[in-house]
Amino acid sequence: MYPKKNWKNRIKTILTINPWVTDFAFYDLWFKPLGLLYISTILKNSGFNVRFMDLLQSHKGKRKYGKGKVLHTEIETPDALKWMERKYYQYGIADDNFRKKLENIEKPDLILMTSFMTYWYPGIVKTAEILKEYFPHAKIVLGGIYATLMTDHAKKLKNVDYVISGNDYNEILLEISKIGDFKIDFKINGFDDLPIIDYSFYSELDSITTINSIGCPFHCPYCAAPILYGNQLYKSIEYIKKEFDSFIKYNVKDIAFYDDAFLMHPAIKDILKALSHYPFRFHLPNGIHARFVTEEIAELLFNANFTTLRIGYEVSDASLQKELGGKVNNRMIIAALTNLKRAGYKASEIGVYILGGHPKIPVEVLEHSISFLSDLGVRIYISEYSPVPGTPEGDIYYDKLREDPLLTNNSLMRFIKENEMDKYRKLKNFVRKYNGEIAG
Ligand code: SF4
Repeated sequence: MYPKKNWKNRIKTILTINPWVTDFAFYDLWFKPLGLLYISTILKNSGFNVRFMDLLQSHKGKRKYGKGKVLHTEIETPDALKWMERKYYQYGIADDNFRKKLENIEKPDLILMTSFMTYWYPGIVKTAEILKEYFPHAKIVLGGIYATLMTDHAKKLKNVDYVISGNDYNEILLEISKIGDFKIDFKINGFDDLPIIDYSFYSELDSITTINSIGCPFHCPYCAAPILYGNQLYKSIEYIKKEFDSFIKYNVKDIAFYDDAFLMHPAIKDILKALSHYPFRFHLPNGIHARFVTEEIAELLFNANFTTLRIGYEVSDASLQKELGGKVNNRMIIAALTNLKRAGYKASEIGVYILGGHPKIPVEVLEHSISFLSDLGVRIYISEYSPVPGTPEGDIYYDKLREDPLLTNNSLMRFIKENEMDKYRKLKNFVRKYNGEIAG
């Protein structure tokens, strides 16, 4: 079906690209396009000339632990968001610098672009427009989360030639090879068959992001994890050790994990013991599950130098906790914090996520959640609710057929009642001030 003798003659150079983010606000919390990095590494290892570009690698100001602000330029707010009366930005490398880079690279035969938030699609449109200007004959293929959750919308984007949905690497590679009319000799039967990400794609690197597992067995109705990843997949401890051995050469101190259920890896204790032998500082920006933070796990986290810890909590009301998936209750949060403090963490070093602006969480309940957590002395992070298309709640609160995906932006606070908005804003200000005070 795919004649091997001349496939390399037909495709030589592939440009893989993480596009601009367009939003009211964006902060780089060790954000790396992991799926695109895996695909880029596989293609590079298969003999293609891969040119990788992450347009978000354009930092601004001081960075701490390999995270921080990203360079941004104010752009015109899209019509669907004009009512917000807030400044809207394009985050990442300046247009001129992007153009200079494109002028200096080998002409690609194929361009693979990834996507994340559904409301960031204007960044994809602009990236694709400029790419087509420079490389009119190269097909642009879009994959990633937005392409999976809103495939029909993505297919209508100007200058995007193909859309690949889903996250099965075998299927993605098959699609890419069909579009490119070449063959890739690669078959993934398990997580360990994926190559270790080649971080030399980054010319400047101050942190690495990785995952030990994919998926989450809980079914919180607002979360995309259960619909994006049907089954849980785990890297073996042998693979993880090999991976961390290979990370040493990059000379970075900070490594972040983007697992949805980091502590649910069946070999988590062995993993944490193994990680304690590496010279890295570790970060868990995604909320971990409080129920698994036992005394032993807390000690292992502390001994392995886990520095950023965030726990998923969402709300203090017991019946809402059950309705929102039942992953946590107040007793579990208190026990987890007790164990972490006993292990050596200060309460102010631990962050806890709560849900703000959720249609089922009245502002009084949010206030109670904040007061419960501030009594415990932990840092509070309000995750503003956004309906994710395809999730049980997303299908209730977002009309995929009629509404622009821009309306899924979590900054819009669309579900806060008008008479609660003032109080909601005051609570956000309180949290900002409180976090500043406990940080000292
Ligand atoms: S526990 Fe966390 S990752 Fe799992 S479904 Fe719920 S919100 Fe998503």
